[in-house]
Amino acid sequence: MMKIDCLTKKQLRDYFISLGEEPYRGDQVYKWIYGKGVKSFSEMTDLPAKLQEKLTHIASFTEIRTLDYRVSTNDGSIKFLFLLEDGNKVESVALKDRGRITLCISSQVGCRLGCEFCTTGRIGFIRNLSCGEILGQVIEVERFLKKSEDTVSNIVYMGMGEPLDNLDEVLKSLEILTDDDGLGFSHRRVTVSTAGLVDKIDKLFEISKQVNLAVSLNATTDRVRDRIMPVNKRFNISNLMTKLRTLPIQKRKRITIEYVLIKGVNDTLEDAKRLIKLIKGLPVKVNLIVFNPGPGSAYSSPTEETVQRFQNYLVENHITAFLRKSLGKDIDGACGQLYAKYNIE
Ligand code: SF4
Repeated sequence: MMKIDCLTKKQLRDYFISLGEEPYRGDQVYKWIYGKGVKSFSEMTDLPAKLQEKLTHIASFTEIRTLDYRVSTNDGSIKFLFLLEDGNKVESVALKDRGRITLCISSQVGCRLGCEFCTTGRIGFIRNLSCGEILGQVIEVERFLKKSEDTVSNIVYMGMGEPLDNLDEVLKSLEILTDDDGLGFSHRRVTVSTAGLVDKIDKLFEISKQVNLAVSLNATTDRVRDRIMPVNKRFNISNLMTKLRTLPIQKRKRITIEYVLIKGVNDTLEDAKRLIKLIKGLPVKVNLIVFNPGPGSAYSSPTEETVQRFQNYLVENHITAFLRKSLGKDIDGACGQLYAKYNIE
């Protein structure tokens, strides 16, 4: 069965041509799926009844269902756990901050990069998500938020998985996400985050020219990064920073450097100094995230004072550095935690 909601606009046109139909039928179906959120051919009233009937036998829609959600009593952020057709589960989190909702979506079930501080990393890699499953998270959350007349303002590919390790499906999802007839998000509002798969970054920019990039750096020496992010043994800090310096970043855009502050690992003023050196001259902003320990984590959060000292040092040295609010522990905030809970309990 062809998953009809895993196809870009062009692929849908080609699909209808392959069925001996007019290509514009593809456009019609595309608008029903993404513009109107319809998940049944019989509701696509501008398709002839015969074609509706034919499609029900050869094509289907991606199944993704909300299994659980938790609302943070601290800030109203919502963590979702979705059930996929094959019984696997993924998480998304709608982060509420100053009237905006940023939705953090998953690109894989589990992850093969094994970052030491990450609950998803400890799950290991299970499988890639299809484009339909990636977008399904956005559609489901939008549907949920609509009840309270809320809507998603920004999307970040920063949930479970490494997006660049599932690049083909991620690229398709980006195309549909940012297409006016698709989900209609402005490019400015969509960010792809990578742990540093240096060999895939060029392709991302080649195909998705206006994409916003975030890079999880999290350490300023190879010794520490090798330990907490094993991907560093393939592409070390120098490889990564050299790649960032060659990217065709558009005027007024900045790369986001994500830096999870972990107690006693990467939170000293020496780290802050090295960080400044590493990013010197690059169009970047730094997002500091206070580590949120998951079950069984060997690491812990730094004190508020240490975090403040780190941020102040960056700001005093003219680096734009935000402290990203860590999601409340009350909703198993960090990536992979709700999934882990379901698979342990
Ligand atoms: Fe994978 Fe990201 Fe977790 Fe690293 S931090 S293991 S890249 S999900």
